[in-house]
Amino acid sequence: MNPRWNGQFSCFDLVAKTEQNRRSIVAVRDLEIGGGEFVVMAGPCAVESEAQLLQTADAVAAAGARILRGGAYKPRSSPYAFQGLGVEGLKILRKASHATGLAIITEVMSEEDVDLVAEYADIMQVGTRSMENYALLEALGGCGRPVLLKRGLTATLEELLRSAQVIAMAGNPQIILCERGIRTFETATRNTLDIAAVPVLKTVSHLPVIVDPSHAAGVRSLVPVLSRAATVVGADGLLVEVHPAPEKAMSDGNQSLTLGEFRSMMADLQPYIELQQEPRQLHPQLLVAGGAD
Ligand code: PEP
Ligand code: MN
Repeated sequence: MNPRWNGQFSCFDLVAKTEQNRRSIVAVRDLEIGGGEFVVMAGPCAVESEAQLLQTADAVAAAGARILRGGAYKPRSSPYAFQGLGVEGLKILRKASHATGLAIITEVMSEEDVDLVAEYADIMQVGTRSMENYALLEALGGCGRPVLLKRGLTATLEELLRSAQVIAMAGNPQIILCERGIRTFETATRNTLDIAAVPVLKTVSHLPVIVDPSHAAGVRSLVPVLSRAATVVGADGLLVEVHPAPEKAMSDGNQSLTLGEFRSMMADLQPYIELQQEPRQLHPQLLVAGGAD
């Protein structure tokens, strides 16, 4: 652990772990993120059509996902790329949620859209490109919904926590942190999954931490193994891209799992999730033994 963490909590004291606040749980419908259950959020990068989303939602729900992801507003690196269906996409997300019982996570890009997106979303996703959009972060302080805050492409963990602090200071303590890969000199993967971010964040902050292996990997073949890694380092869940026909996807097809691949991955992860949950069951004994966390 970098000793510089010591004494640096003043700038993010609302989200820093303390004796009084060791772990916060973010409630989403009947789910408790950060509460011991490993919560998988899955779905397409973008909502493309009703048929695409309903088919995906049925499949990911059957495989054990609890939350449906799908962007209606897409931050794209190119202005010529598909920008999302907007409010039409939000309506399709609602339909899929009613059909399956899955909660909804979707991205909000602008403070002007916060109220609208909050009408449809159970969790408001802040994308990597928006981690330092302070007007958006402040607007999310009053949205009444949990916020999933993605780490910026070139952000340190301290900077991520500072952005979380902005949301908390604006009045919203329901925050989930997300490691989704950072930009490094390595080009074999789209981004570099900073797997150490998970234990570091969980040591210094009380907030739940989830991993997005899809945007880190950039290719679907790496997604199951990175997901497995996330479970064993203590992540509270995953955010995974899944598409019924990835080769036809309008965005991020290369990194999207097929429905069958997602089902297999969920089965493969089960023993690792159980392994991760074991020490949590021992947690009270560890506390009695020596105050370890
Ligand atoms: C996404 O989740 O589809 C997305 C755009 O992610 P990120 O902000 O991590 O690039
Ligand atoms: Mn994507």
